[in-house]
Amino acid sequence: MFANRMTAGLVAVCTACACWFPPHAATANEDDLRTLRYSSGERPRALRWQKEVRRKLVQLLKMEDLLSHNAGNPLNPKTQSSEDRGKYVFHEMEINSTPNRRIKVVLTLPKNARGPFPAIVAVAGHGGNRHTCYVKESYHRCAHVLAEQGYVTISTRVSQHKVHEEGRTLMGERLWDLMRCVDYLGSLEEVDQRRIGCLGNSLGGEMVMWLAALDERMKAAVSSGFLTRMDQLEKNHCMCWKFPGLRELVDFSDIYSLIAPRALLCQNGLKEPPSQFPVPIARHALREIEPIYRDFEKPENVALVAHEGGHEIHLPSLVAFLEKHLDDHGDEAQPDASADAEKSRP
Ligand SMILES: [Zn+2]
Repeated sequence: MFANRMTAGLVAVCTACACWFPPHAATANEDDLRTLRYSSGERPRALRWQKEVRRKLVQLLKMEDLLSHNAGNPLNPKTQSSEDRGKYVFHEMEINSTPNRRIKVVLTLPKNARGPFPAIVAVAGHGGNRHTCYVKESYHRCAHVLAEQGYVTISTRVSQHKVHEEGRTLMGERLWDLMRCVDYLGSLEEVDQRRIGCLGNSLGGEMVMWLAALDERMKAAVSSGFLTRMDQLEKNHCMCWKFPGLRELVDFSDIYSLIAPRALLCQNGLKEPPSQFPVPIARHALREIEPIYRDFEKPENVALVAHEGGHEIHLPSLVAFLEKHLDDHGDEAQPDASADAEKSRP
């Protein structure tokens, strides 16, 4: 029996023989963790589990008041500049996040086409900002590519490590800013409200997990460079993913399970170093997400693409997946990310 490293500090001790293990060599006692882990059941039970987990996560994120009072929080959008980029117009804007805090967003609207259009929230990772998904090569300029293909796109920065408002959490503020981007999309007549999705890489892939899990307006989610387990992220990684109470409740696969039965594509690169977001750990996590999709009788709506790259977006499968799920065929969309998507291996 190992002492739980969360309470024992940096060094774990084997209580049987008092030998010392280096940091992270021990596994946290799973009996104390993940008390709301998903266990397979009928659809009504799965729905109850999702509702309960969402309620508890919103509490831990300290977002209850924001969600319950949102109707009284106008967006007050203001356009600061607009630039014609050929197939779309690129707007620099500001909107209200909370009544006391405004955020900068990029919004692109298609030109020379008739809407309403599908829409995408694009989220960059550590070091990124609202422009990253449009310009950076490790993102394959995916937001620009989608804007040219006729999607409305929106992006804001979530890479800050400072909590802006007293009584909030970092993850809660990041997530709330993204939800306000969705609110703004919801106010636009150019946007087809049935066809909103999100994409992101790294911390952006993590935020896509959170956004799609807690905001059911997301009909499709592409989470790149993130699918993993919390044990893995306890090592060699910025700890901004963690906040009090989270580990005791769930692991990442449980949060992803809140997205079911809506469409979810995860992407992990075969060139990810073992210390980061390697494919074998992603496959393990996927095996824990698949049961709830089976319980909803939508096993085809979740997939993992193990691509040849590293810590990056895989553009071909992303584009194919969004086209399939956010195309104009309503709720009957039958996803299957792409030819190279895989199901988890038994
Ligand atoms: Zn961080």
